Amino acid sequence: MPETVEDLYDISIVGGGPVGLFAAFYAGLREMKTKILESLSELGGQLTVLYPEKFIYDVGGFPKIIARDLAKNLMEQGLYFKPAVHLEEQAETLDRVEIESGVVYRIGTDKGKHFTRTVLITAGIGAFAPNKLSVPSAAHFEGKGVYYLVKDKTEFRGKRLLIIGGGDTAVDWALNLKDLAKKVTLIHRREGFRAHEGSLATLMKSEVDVKVFYELKEVRGNEVVEEAVIFDNRDRNETTIPVDVVLINIGYKADIGPLREWGMELENRRIVVNPRMETNLPGVYAAGDIAQPKDSVYLNLIATGFGQATIAVNVAKNYIDPKSRIFPGHSSEMRL
Ligand SMILES: Cc1cc2nc3c(=O)[nH]c(=O)nc-3n(C[C@H](O)[C@H](O)[C@H](O)COP(=O)(O)OP(=O)(O)OC[C@H]3O[C@@H](n4cnc5c(N)ncnc54)[C@H](O)[C@@H]3O)c2cc1C
Repeated sequence: MPETVEDLYDISIVGGGPVGLFAAFYAGLREMKTKILESLSELGGQLTVLYPEKFIYDVGGFPKIIARDLAKNLMEQGLYFKPAVHLEEQAETLDRVEIESGVVYRIGTDKGKHFTRTVLITAGIGAFAPNKLSVPSAAHFEGKGVYYLVKDKTEFRGKRLLIIGGGDTAVDWALNLKDLAKKVTLIHRREGFRAHEGSLATLMKSEVDVKVFYELKEVRGNEVVEEAVIFDNRDRNETTIPVDVVLINIGYKADIGPLREWGMELENRRIVVNPRMETNLPGVYAAGDIAQPKDSVYLNLIATGFGQATIAVNVAKNYIDPKSRIFPGHSSEMRL
């Protein structure tokens, strides 16, 4: 018995990061009825969540742009043709189902069902979440002075800041915030850092107070954070430092999770695609960080993802309507 479907989309884009947003723009340009499913509460992917305040230098046409601004521009462009956007909705299942007009895909999410002729997976590194520190008082102050991500660095102006971590994120934030904050202390539990050598050298020469072999024991305060107790893990000696903000940058977990069960050929945590960005499932495409081009190179860069999204959407258009050309024409010759 065919399912009755009220709303059938031409293309459903799983993941509203930079590549998904650019794909949504192209799908609109091709007059495809488009939907974006995004598991987070906001669009922009890694740009918005992981490094909103960093400069990006390698996106064509922008000699230098802050990630947050690039995400904003991408949202403006990606939403230009008014695709349906479902935030906080994680795509969990993919099935081929029969409806009155033929066979289509049904994407099951934690909130409902979405029917679509084609699917473009731009799920990046998967659903990501920062690694948490198992210090009960840090959990207590989360969002009230203890942060895992920086959304708006101006919140740290004039504050006393404790950064925890030894990777690029921790070191980059220490350098980025040192002139804005009143004081920055960075603690790392061992001598070796994973951060880029150049950044580390700059950090060591800067006024940031770097303490190695130190870990966080406790965060104290009344309503807000007032001090942090740190300890030297070689002799357990404790030091109490006055702080307003604790920024924990100890990496993040990324998991493509449910996509693993969709029947696509995978390589490591990525979906294998051919040069047309097609997966082994007909009408299902992948682009951006999640896509592993077969017999080609893997570059997890925004510029690469934009090109892949362009190919995927135009091939999908031709899949739905074989009479349509794959080449979309030049946007400069269109009236938008
Ligand atoms: C610190 C850092 C600095 C970087 N600097 C640069 C740089 O200078 N230049 C450059 O080109 N690249 C840079 N990158 C890489 C760049 O950010 C990525 O290549 C880019 O974000 C990939 O875009 P994407 O849309 O494929 O994936 P993402 O940005 O990862 O977006 C994927 C989206 O899909 C969502 N999602 C995942 N699974 C599901 C699901 N099942 N259902 C619904 N939604 C889902 C996620 O929540 C996410 O929002 C950097 C990355 C990092 C971490």
